Amino acid sequence: MPGSDPTPQHGPGQEPRTRPRGRIFQASTMTAMLEGVYEGTTTIAELCRHGDFGIGTFDRLDGEMIVLDGRCYRLRADGTAGEADPSAPTPLAAVTYFHGEYDWRLTEPIDAAGLRTVIDNWLPSHNLFYAVRVDGHFDHMVTRMLPEQHRPYSRLIDAVAGQVVSTHTDLQGTVVGFRSPTHMLGVAAAGYHLHFLSNCRTRGGHAYDFVLRSGRVRVDVGYELLLRLPCTQDFRSAQLGRGDIAGEIEAVLQGGSRT
Ligand code: ZN
Repeated sequence: MPGSDPTPQHGPGQEPRTRPRGRIFQASTMTAMLEGVYEGTTTIAELCRHGDFGIGTFDRLDGEMIVLDGRCYRLRADGTAGEADPSAPTPLAAVTYFHGEYDWRLTEPIDAAGLRTVIDNWLPSHNLFYAVRVDGHFDHMVTRMLPEQHRPYSRLIDAVAGQVVSTHTDLQGTVVGFRSPTHMLGVAAAGYHLHFLSNCRTRGGHAYDFVLRSGRVRVDVGYELLLRLPCTQDFRSAQLGRGDIAGEIEAVLQGGSRT
């Protein structure tokens, strides 16, 4: 209709008219998480208007997020798992519409480090974002979840000391996440940030290490980033960008610590 708004209009529970390629929406930054900006300002309903695939955490770190095929799952440290309430806020999440532009099969067992190297070698450039999806059979999967945080908030590297680590064996599932370029360090992880969700949708979390027996690897290129910064007092007053950002992100995502 002439004069009508061309912007796709859709709300919670409704399908968007388009599924744009190459666009990532992110709420807040890794650097804000390092400094304890844990209170969510973007709801799951808002987040899912920007994509059907992604990862994140929940308000006060209470649960690991996996967005897969348009559904947002919340896995908590107490072992409870299920679809997230659309009104639940997230302090850090990234989503995209996943298309699976690159599609590879792996038939030999490979661990997490090996898979990262294989994907790195496949990618046409390391300067872009990539959404990474791995569906397969995992001989071994180590995941972690963080317990809910309370004020005064610890810095993330200290909060990780209270993590709950789980080891799963012989299960089917999906690794969901992103590879972010080094020049985006601080906004994102600069490297891989991967979560896992079992096919039964009840096991998973932040993926530390795994052995993939065989599976399908799909990757999308991301070249647009829509970044929403929190307008909270915590974010305004946080000392963002201090310290060893690269080292702390590596420690909190790959399972290390300062000690
Ligand atoms: Zn994570």
